[in-house]
Amino acid sequence: MYNKISQLDFDTKVEKISGVGPKFAARLHKLGIKTISNLLFNFPRRYLDFTSPVTIASLNSADIGNFVVLKGKIATIENKRTSRRRFTVTEAYLEDESGSLKVVWFNQPFLLKMLTVGRELIIYGKLVHNVFSNELTIESPERSLYPKISPIYSETVGISSRYINSLISNHKFIISDIIEHVPAAILSKYNLLNICEAIFNIHFPKNNLILKEAQRRLAFDELFLISLKSQVSKEEAKKTNAPVLKCSKKEIEDFIATLSFELTSDQKKATKDILNDLGKEIPMSRLLNGDVGSGKTVVAAIAAYIAVLAGYRVVIMAPTSILAQQHFKTFCGLFKDKKISVGLFTANSKDTFQIQKTKNKELANNSQLLSADIIIGTQALIQKDVKIKNLGLVVVDEQHRFGVKQRSVLLELRTNNCERMATQEIKPHFLSMTATPIPRTLHLALFGDLDISIIKEKPANRKEIKTRFVEPHNREKAYEFIRAHIKAGRQVFVVCPLIEEGQGSGAESLELFEEERKSVKAEYEKLLKIFPEYRIEMLHGKMKPKEKDTVMNEFSNNKVSLLVSTSVVEVGVDVPNATIMVVEDAERFGLAQIHQFRGRVGRADYQSFCFLFSSTMSEKATTRLKALESTSDGFKLAEIDLEQRGPGAIFGTEQSGMLDLKMASFSDRELIEEASAAAKLIIESDPGLTKHPLLKEKISEYLQNRHLE
Ligand code: ADP
Ligand code: MG
Repeated sequence: MYNKISQLDFDTKVEKISGVGPKFAARLHKLGIKTISNLLFNFPRRYLDFTSPVTIASLNSADIGNFVVLKGKIATIENKRTSRRRFTVTEAYLEDESGSLKVVWFNQPFLLKMLTVGRELIIYGKLVHNVFSNELTIESPERSLYPKISPIYSETVGISSRYINSLISNHKFIISDIIEHVPAAILSKYNLLNICEAIFNIHFPKNNLILKEAQRRLAFDELFLISLKSQVSKEEAKKTNAPVLKCSKKEIEDFIATLSFELTSDQKKATKDILNDLGKEIPMSRLLNGDVGSGKTVVAAIAAYIAVLAGYRVVIMAPTSILAQQHFKTFCGLFKDKKISVGLFTANSKDTFQIQKTKNKELANNSQLLSADIIIGTQALIQKDVKIKNLGLVVVDEQHRFGVKQRSVLLELRTNNCERMATQEIKPHFLSMTATPIPRTLHLALFGDLDISIIKEKPANRKEIKTRFVEPHNREKAYEFIRAHIKAGRQVFVVCPLIEEGQGSGAESLELFEEERKSVKAEYEKLLKIFPEYRIEMLHGKMKPKEKDTVMNEFSNNKVSLLVSTSVVEVGVDVPNATIMVVEDAERFGLAQIHQFRGRVGRADYQSFCFLFSSTMSEKATTRLKALESTSDGFKLAEIDLEQRGPGAIFGTEQSGMLDLKMASFSDRELIEEASAAAKLIIESDPGLTKHPLLKEKISEYLQNRHLE
């Protein structure tokens, strides 16, 4: 018997271990547990902590809704049948030296025999206010006879946490065989448990202190691996060549002088960073992070100009065709007097195919599009196997808006494009732009391989957007205010939320578009009644790109007064005459996202407004939204989102794949900084991780697991 056990190792299939038959094995597989190693690295989602009970007398109405731990004796206990029969309620009173409290369990009549009067126990359950008896009650608590911390795992039908924990317990001995992958110097420098202690204590914590330590170590691992990965990529990028894109200072200055405005000092600084990068033989990998309306496009245009002057082609990718269209217009305008051709390539380029005709170059057909100097497009550009020769610079606007899949293709464009170029080893420079204010911690954790330029300062002519949370009874007043502004010639965006029901496959996204259409249509019809005298149009995912473009064009030309849409307009649309942004059901959005919406207005000299409508009565939600009234700092709002709702609130659910952390939290500033510093320490002495093969293996294993989820 002993001999058999000793043959087990990490790769042993769960069906081979005692206590697991084929039925249970299948259930474990469902949870992603196929081997002993999976079992050990399947961490509890939460814990029931029976170790620190409070006294009954200390509970009050402020605790309602919270989980509480109490220790006491059963004073009375009885089973009651509800009027609907078949339904048993076990009602007990638990008493400690400070008082007594009602405890109920549903449909567990057998408890009567187990929990006899006088029995001492610890319970963990939710405190509710029972309206019938008007007393505080603990409902369906978990119980324990002694103080302990019980792990709760992801469960499936027929597999309980207790079962999972007992399987691990049977194989405890194998934990000490786990090989430590984090160098000892890092462990001691950052005061981390070793991996064996951490794994042991995550499953069998004796007390809270050691549990916290185990959680910290495993959270560190995640952040450390992500960080290492990006720093390794950064080192690798240094080894490849990029075309040196340089032109005379005068040429750049002359171009900047043709702009109708003076660049802000942040724009100048970002431009300088980029010029500096482009002039090097190492491919640039830079993130331009600037709040909405901070003027990132023109910075990208300057970079593109330099690349073209140096004799290279530029690709500019936008997440939506509306935005691609808009960039196309902007770029055509900026380069109208230059010998530079600009092409537009969107999903159905056959119909909407356009090319800027310049004095010296005439490009007419689809194949010639790709010989334009600057090619602007949507993901269509990467989906079809487009070959672009002599690519010197790739700019991706609103990069976070691209889905996880598209992102990997993008990366390919960035890394494999060398094949499409004359010399194999040459890669284009890469500039990614986002208006999403990314808190420093998040940047450090996720985009450590990207250098960053931040545009904080807004162009001088911008006025602060007055933001108001509108209580339901003030809705009419707000509409009258809006009417007055339309009368004065201004325009209005109305954004309504979308009930997202998952994403991914094509079928699902079609349904998503249908939901979007419904949500927009309902709002549209409501507004038709309120503003019968003005033209209102809709924008939603069910519309054909051409229809969308038509609506957008008409809105841009002030033929439409109100534009109703879902979050499609969030991205980059520039209509300076629009001065009011209305957000319906605002509580459904993250603050950073609403901040993006309101960035659609306030783009000219007019005073602009953002009205947040919400039917929620929740004080928490209202307080959260009111932060928008008092601050216009996108970075600050993003920090609040990150803390209160996690990174999904900043990036949207689309990115969830890369945002799923098992143990770590993106708002844990200290740990992120430590993990990133630790990674740097390793990379400095061993850039290719040749001296750390185990770490290298762990990185790819970790990334693989994350992508498969
Ligand atoms: P975003 O950073 O959100 O992409 P855009 O690049 O679309 O912002 O710029 C928003 C608007 O501000 C555009 O109409 C652009 O022409 C204008 N703009 C950009 N920079 C300046 C500046 N320095 N001064 C005045 N207006 C500017
Ligand atoms: Mg933009």
